Amino acid sequence: MKRKCEICGQQTDKFLPVNPCFRQEQERFGYGPTEPETLNESEYVCETCQSTDRERMCASFLNKILKEHLIRLNVLEVAPGHVLSEFFSEQYPVCTYKTADLFMEGVDYKVDVQDMEEIRNGQFDMVICFHVLEHVKDDRKALREFYRILSENGIGIFLVPIDLLQKETEEAWGLSKEENIRRFGQEDHVRKYSRQGFIDRMEDAGFSVLSLDTKWFGWRNCRQNAYSKTATLYIAVKNPAYGKQNLKDVFAGHFFSYASEKADSQSVRYSIDGVEKKGEACSVWGWIFHKSCKYGRIIKGVLCLKKGSRVIYRKQFEFTKRQDVMRIYGEQYEYSGIEVAFPLRRIKKGTYEMAFLLFNDRKAYEVDVKKSISV
Ligand SMILES: [Zn+2]
Repeated sequence: MKRKCEICGQQTDKFLPVNPCFRQEQERFGYGPTEPETLNESEYVCETCQSTDRERMCASFLNKILKEHLIRLNVLEVAPGHVLSEFFSEQYPVCTYKTADLFMEGVDYKVDVQDMEEIRNGQFDMVICFHVLEHVKDDRKALREFYRILSENGIGIFLVPIDLLQKETEEAWGLSKEENIRRFGQEDHVRKYSRQGFIDRMEDAGFSVLSLDTKWFGWRNCRQNAYSKTATLYIAVKNPAYGKQNLKDVFAGHFFSYASEKADSQSVRYSIDGVEKKGEACSVWGWIFHKSCKYGRIIKGVLCLKKGSRVIYRKQFEFTKRQDVMRIYGEQYEYSGIEVAFPLRRIKKGTYEMAFLLFNDRKAYEVDVKKSISV
């Protein structure tokens, strides 16, 4: 089966291997043997987008849980690369993506993960932190900080290099570079995690931990992205009500609560079927599905007018041609004088999802989508 990168969609026969210098240096200082949990050394990097297997796995996870809803999340990536930043801006543009790092320039928060004072409690819905905790002196403190800055239903997506041969987590601060390589595999690593040891530390910080293995991702997805057999993504869930089965529901409320919030903050006049109504705050939202949705093979959508959390108007509409959807996608900002609060998002080829609030000064409009696209 051909590889197909989850992030850039590019097909290839084989991803690129880990740079051999990495292992050579470890061997030179007497490190090993080792059995990494989530690292496919022979097929590590996508040549096109430079994503690593763990970044592709993160993207697979996000696509699995977010694709059924258009959700506006506050996301924080710690020690960011360019890969997930671009992934969010292209695939999930409604999410707010921020970055944090102690040493990097150009991040939104230049903070130590052990003490992120300037980030307030519950500020983020998702924290992504890959291969950072093994560098940090007090990783327990950092995990408690992640717990603090996550919202009530927030989740952490955490990875560290786990060695499956390691029975217990080993750590030491202040060793020489050579000694760090010999014991932990890299000159600036200060510990080596066992699988259970990592889970324990996340749980000690208050999280419920979901270990998503290749079975959760599915055979096809794992093959396409060349995940190793033992690859595991750790999801640290703040609300223990969520497990592997209902993970998709974690964020389901976000979009709707945002829409209501927006509605409550505005006093508007709006019209339904040409009849103008005054003085009610409302919002319009809707979405479109195509083919793969439960509605069947044609594109259907729903438009709702809401006052607070109460739906005061609801209308279903249909498209018969995919081009119609494409035209909206292209023209979404061309409704004159109307603010479109959410863009349309292409989930995959032939599948589209749309959500929007339409405001024109003090008017919120019901949108007949069929009519709008012919403008
Ligand atoms: Zn790629």
